[in-house]
Amino acid sequence: MSNEAPNKGIPSPGELLGLLDILTRHRDAQLVRLSAMQALFNLIRPDSIKLYDVLKRGEQYRIVLSAWNEGEQLHFNDEALSEERFEPIGPDSLLGRALGVGGGCHCDIQDGVHGCYLPVMMNDEPLSLFEIQSVRPFSLETMAVATGVVAVFRNYLELLEDSQRDTLTGLLNRKTFDEGFAVFLSAASRSDEREHARPDDRRSRRDGSHWVAVIDIDRFKRVNDTFGHLYGDEVLILMANLMRASFRQYDRLYRFGGEEFIVLMRDISFTDAKHRLEGFREKVEQHVFPQVGQVTVSIGFTAVASTSTPSMVLGNADEALYYAKGHGRNRVCCYGELVEQKLLAPKTVHTEADFF
Ligand code: GH3
Ligand code: MG
Ligand code: MG
Repeated sequence: MSNEAPNKGIPSPGELLGLLDILTRHRDAQLVRLSAMQALFNLIRPDSIKLYDVLKRGEQYRIVLSAWNEGEQLHFNDEALSEERFEPIGPDSLLGRALGVGGGCHCDIQDGVHGCYLPVMMNDEPLSLFEIQSVRPFSLETMAVATGVVAVFRNYLELLEDSQRDTLTGLLNRKTFDEGFAVFLSAASRSDEREHARPDDRRSRRDGSHWVAVIDIDRFKRVNDTFGHLYGDEVLILMANLMRASFRQYDRLYRFGGEEFIVLMRDISFTDAKHRLEGFREKVEQHVFPQVGQVTVSIGFTAVASTSTPSMVLGNADEALYYAKGHGRNRVCCYGELVEQKLLAPKTVHTEADFF
């Protein structure tokens, strides 16, 4: 008889309900992904579990490791997952084969290690991939339940995605901004700490790697008044399309209010952030909107630092936006740059230390 006892058997109804509870406990997509890992980990008790994010470029799949286990502990990669960090994988590699076949569970044995691969499909394309490995074989029942857990995870993620989107433009909606912004701020503050740890650190007000931009359509009321609300709505939809075409896949794009948008950009220099925003402004300026013709936008943006609070960051970006509005519109203005050039007065910054 083999001494390789299979991994945990089929879970009891109570355990199953526990798995569903873990899966659907959170509203944040990142936490939901980690919950799905936890649910699969509890179910299978494997030696190793990994979650990859997947991108498809042409026929080529690219992946990046986004979560993994160390013993019982699950870890999540909260670095910005810009497209450059995705590694191409060959179609004949284990992961490549698992992705190539589409949905469902794919099992393999290599060098005595049992591997189980569970792609998460969205609109017929893989969005993520679970890789589960164990020296013990997986039972068929467990695999059937694992496939079910991934299906519930996928459906829940899709539902969550829909509830986080603005119905007109498809951009992230205002309701999800606070939570998304809190995650963004904490990532910015960790990155800021790493930067400050460098001995040759010389920072100016323009330095930073995380940026918040507020975009407001110029004279939009006039568009509505002249052409009607429906054409106004069409402008908003096309504006969102131009945003998607101008920013990176992992930049967070929000419709913040009626004709106001916010972009959160991680891991990008001042020069590149400004270049992207300018590129977007130019794209809008050059676009011919049906019936309406030319529309322009004004943009204010600011760096996010470890000491930033949401109201401070949005306040600074708004100040830069109002400067742009007051100085000809159709402009991109950076708060730090305006302060450096003495065109705006710096605000007094209260850190925690000031209060003690
Ligand atoms: P400014 O250049 O100073 O930003 O001028 P503005 O006219 O764009 O600014 P204002 O804030 O006065 O006007 C915003 C307008 O946006 C008012 C409102 O009618 C319009 N609006 C807000 N939400 C929607 C929407 O969902 N659809 C349409 N069509 N219009 C909207
Ligand atoms: Mg406005
Ligand atoms: Mg406006």
